[in-house]
Amino acid sequence: MRERNAESAEGAELNQLEGALAKKEHSLQALYCQLGKSVLELADGEKEKIDILVDDIIETRKKLVAIRQEIECPECMTYNPNDSRYCRRCGTPIK
Ligand SMILES: [Zn+2]
Repeated sequence: MRERNAESAEGAELNQLEGALAKKEHSLQALYCQLGKSVLELADGEKEKIDILVDDIIETRKKLVAIRQEIECPECMTYNPNDSRYCRRCGTPIK
């Protein structure tokens, strides 16, 4: 009888610990999930800013190329000064 009581007390403590552990693990999972969501939201906002900046840089570069009347290399697509005879990057002759 005494042993059985000890066993059931042990069993109750085991159940309690398992329950507490499951709750804590669940809380940890929820925190990880929340963290993941906020990182994704932050990345989304930053990605939009980066896309806008990249588009702006491309447009500015196009204007510069047009004003300088640079010539695009037929091989590597690098822009070269309009008096170039060879591509400054790959050496392909440019007419
Ligand atoms: Zn080239």
